[in-house]
Parts: sequence; structure tokens; C-alpha cells
Amino acid sequence: MKQLGIKQDFKSFIDTYRDKLRSLFQERMDEEEIATQRGLPPYVLRQILECDPLSTFIPEDHGGRGAKTHEALTMLETSSYESLPLSLMMGINGALFLQPLANYGSEEAKSKVFRRFLKNKNMGGLMITEPDFGSDALRMKTGFTQQGEHYHISGIKHWAGLTGWADYWLITAREKDKDGELGRDIGFFVHETNAGGIEVEEYYKNLGLYMLPYGRNKIDIKVPSEYRLNPSSTGVKMMLDVLHRSRLQFPGMATGYLRRMLDEALSHCKSRMVGGKSLFNYDQVKERLAKLQSYFTVSSAMSYFTSSNISMDDDTSKMDVAANSIKTVTTDYMQAAAQSLLQLVGAKGYRLDHIAGRSLIDSRPFQIFEGSNDILYQQISESVIKAMKRTKESNLYRFLSQYSLTERSAEYFKKSLDFEVDYQMAQRKLVQMGEALSRLISMELTLRLGERGFNSDMISNSVRVLQNEIQARITTFNNKFESDVIENYSEDSNWLKILSPQT
Ligand SMILES: Cc1cc2nc3c(=O)[nH]c(=O)nc-3n(C[C@H](O)[C@H](O)[C@H](O)COP(=O)(O)OP(=O)(O)OC[C@H]3O[C@@H](n4cnc5c(N)ncnc54)[C@H](O)[C@@H]3O)c2cc1C
Repeated sequence: MKQLGIKQDFKSFIDTYRDKLRSLFQERMDEEEIATQRGLPPYVLRQILECDPLSTFIPEDHGGRGAKTHEALTMLETSSYESLPLSLMMGINGALFLQPLANYGSEEAKSKVFRRFLKNKNMGGLMITEPDFGSDALRMKTGFTQQGEHYHISGIKHWAGLTGWADYWLITAREKDKDGELGRDIGFFVHETNAGGIEVEEYYKNLGLYMLPYGRNKIDIKVPSEYRLNPSSTGVKMMLDVLHRSRLQFPGMATGYLRRMLDEALSHCKSRMVGGKSLFNYDQVKERLAKLQSYFTVSSAMSYFTSSNISMDDDTSKMDVAANSIKTVTTDYMQAAAQSLLQLVGAKGYRLDHIAGRSLIDSRPFQIFEGSNDILYQQISESVIKAMKRTKESNLYRFLSQYSLTERSAEYFKKSLDFEVDYQMAQRKLVQMGEALSRLISMELTLRLGERGFNSDMISNSVRVLQNEIQARITTFNNKFESDVIENYSEDSNWLKILSPQT
């Protein structure tokens, strides 16, 4: 009998998984079925889970493959080459459910839940967001009270991936005192769906990511006390650790997807003839393809960084700059790659059942969930400014040339970065600076990957693309052309009236 996924050596495990996905997504299901049907046919899900992809997130002493970062990231990468929504499904299960449980769960909860994942192919998700509290999650209204050996939790949660489908949920709530006042800290509770108390009030018609169900849930549950996660200090710090660890693993989902975008673009451009020659030979097309190659290389550098620096039980709560840079840049690249592929494919790509059109819609929410990119860029700048103040260095170049995440890349911008940072800047300036900083960090990681022997042409190409991106952002940051919102914009804003005032 063939050995199960968990017992296989890593190479055979990934090869088996890749072959299975390929046969399911490229042979068994057709484009139309993948693109337009919500959910996943049960036979497809069963065959995928039989390869035990989620065992990469489960510790060895609980029967998993040992929660090795490079294995989890490679599994995500393999998934996203075939299907971005599938990779997100695996990422939700892993980074938002299994890893928090492995790091903070009681032995009792871990042994029961991990066994259920491995034996019964169960799945889990995370509920943080509420209708009135998304970016503002710390002000969530879902509350809990302790009642003897149980916690009682009630509230409304929405947009949790795998709504109505997951067998287990990690649910976040704030403690309610006897007067009904909510405390500041956040508690995490593992709830088994079969125990009841989660009512899906509405399924959303999500624009893309059809494989994953979303909706609004009414929560009124009882959770045994051993099923509350135990933070090492506060629940907010645990939440930061969970979110940072997840963001650091985004390159897993991004790298395979970006390679797919690149392969699709290359093969289309080589075969499409326009004006008597192959699209591939047009200069503007080459620029787009070079950027796609750069996105794939940078994301690979981030996968390498996360795999070689972050192990499963490291506390990542203070790794905000690396985590937020990786999350923002990978997700911006994912959307940019889909835009570019669609441009290159032309009208044929503007179909829901074409990978270009579908990717455009599927990759877009990655810039919104797990921290809206606008806010994360601002936070990157705020953290760097805090570090500058701490080291009493206000010159940006001098600071970045000593900062571990930019020490190599800063050298390329000696002149442009040689200015004093005004710490009192507008929010939009913080965002612009964050965009530049996150790309300087991306370039640093790319240079490090190059030093380790990655394809040197791909590295130098990426460095050139990043130089352009960074220089443009530093220029925007330094210019003073600031626009403002005109509140009563309708006044005198009718061109037809100006053309013929009488009408
Ligand atoms: C496909 C998808 C999957 C998701 N999966 C999950 C999941 O599994 N679990 C879960 O709990 N949630 C999930 N979410 C919810 C997601 O995390 C939230 O949508 C996100 O946190 C943003 O919250 P919001 O939608 O309420 O937007 P808001 O908080 O209203 O923010 C909307 C926009 O306003 C702007 N904005 C907000 N605050 C600021 C600020 N301080 N400064 C400047 N601009 C600001 C930003 O542009 C932001 O994107 C998912 C969402 C989507 C779309």
C-alpha cells in the first residue's frame, strides 16, 4: 500500500500533492466549473485532503509533519500555482487556526483537534471581523463571560473564510464584566461547530474566491475552559503574534500564484502574433514580463527569508516591520501581476473563466484582509520612525544603512535617502514612506537570496525593477503637490453649463 502523506519524505509528499492538484484542476475539472461554481465538488476536496496538506502545520508529537516553515510554505506555493483560492483555504486552516492552536492551546484541545484534522480531514477558520469593526478589530463587541467550567460567548461575526463549512472555529471576544462593560484584552476560543451555537444568518455573494464561502454569523456558544487559548502575556500580544506569523507566510501563497501568472504571460506572449510578429518581441511587453519575473523573484526571496528565520514557536509579535512589509508588497504584486496578465492577454482574458480575469478578482481582497494595505504601510513608517527616535538618528540614509532589514539595499539610494525625516508628517506621507520602506526591505531580502545562489539574472532584473519602484516612491514622498477633497464638489462642476450657460 502507498504510504500516507505524513509518512512520506518531503520531496515525495510535495510531488504527490502537486500531481494530484494538477490532475484535479487541469484534467478533471474544466475552467468553466472552476470559475463559476461556488464551493468545491466533494470528490475534489476529499482527494486534496487525502494528500494531508494540513499535516505541514501540525507538530510531530501530534502526528503531523512537524510544522516546519519551509514545508508549510512549499505546500501553499504548490497549491497556489494551481488555484489561489485553494491556497487561501490552506492558509486559513494553517496560519489562522492550526498554528495558533499549536502555540497557545491546551494539550487536551490540541490532541483532540489535531487528531480530527489528520484522521477525519476536518477544517478550521478564524473569526475576528464584525460588521462595525474591521480595521478597528480591537473594539470588537463580541463578549464573553466565564460561567463555571465554561465560557459563554455571544456576538456577530462576518467575512470569516469557510463560513458554514469549517468544523472548528477560533473565535475572538472581549471579556464582559458584571455591568456588561467590555474589557480591553482579547480572548481566543476554539469552538467545535457540531456543538452548536453558530447560526449563519446570511451567505454573502462574494465577488471572487468562489471556492470559499463567506457570510454573517450569529454567535451564542459555550466553550469548555480548556478550549480557551493561553497567551504568554496578553491576548492582544497573542493576536499580534498570530497575525504577524500569518503575514510572514503570505509569500507561500504569493510565490506559486506569481509563477503561474508569469508562466501564463510568457506562453501567451510567445504564441500570440500581432502586427506580423510575436507579442514577446515588443519592448513594452518585455517590460511587463520583466516585472512579472521580478515579482516572482521577490516573493521567492520572502519565502526564503520566512523559512530560514521564523520557526513555528518563535514569538513574532514584535516583527511588525518585516511582517507588514512582506504582506503589503506580496499582495500589491499579486494584484499588479493579474492586471498585467489581463492587459497582455487582451479581451480573451476578460472572462470569468479565463485565469487572467479570475485572478484579477481573486487576488484583490488580499490587499484588504489581514490588515488593509493602506494602514499597514502607515504602520511600517511609524515603527521605523520610532526606531529612528530611539537611536537618535533622523537622517534616513544613515539610519537605513545600519538597519538590519535595509543595510544592503540602502546603499543603492545613498543620495535620494540623504535627508532628515520630519517626524510630524501627514498620514498620506506615512503611507508613501511605508511603500518605499517595504520595497527597500523587499530589495534587501532579494539581495540576500542572490548571495545564496538564486538565479543571478533574475536577481539583477528584480533589483532594477525595485530600484525604479523605490525611486518613484521617494520622489512622490518628497514632492509637495498635495491634493485635497472638495466637499461641495458639485458647485460649478458642470462642463455642459459652461459650454452653453442657458441650458
Ligand atoms: C475575501 C475576504 C476574506 C476575509 N477573511 C476573513 C477571515 O477569515 N476572518 C476574519 O475575521 N475576517 C476576514 N475578512 C475581513 C477583513 O479582515 C476585513 O474586511 C478587514 O479587516 C477590513 O475591515 P472592513 O472590511 O470592516 O473595512 P474598514 O475597517 O471599514 O476599512 C475599509 C477601508 O478604509 C480605509 N481605512 C480604515 N481605517 C483606516 C485608517 N485608520 N486610516 C486610513 N484608512 C483607513 C482602508 O482603505 C480600508 O481598506 C475577510 C475579508 C475579505 C474581503
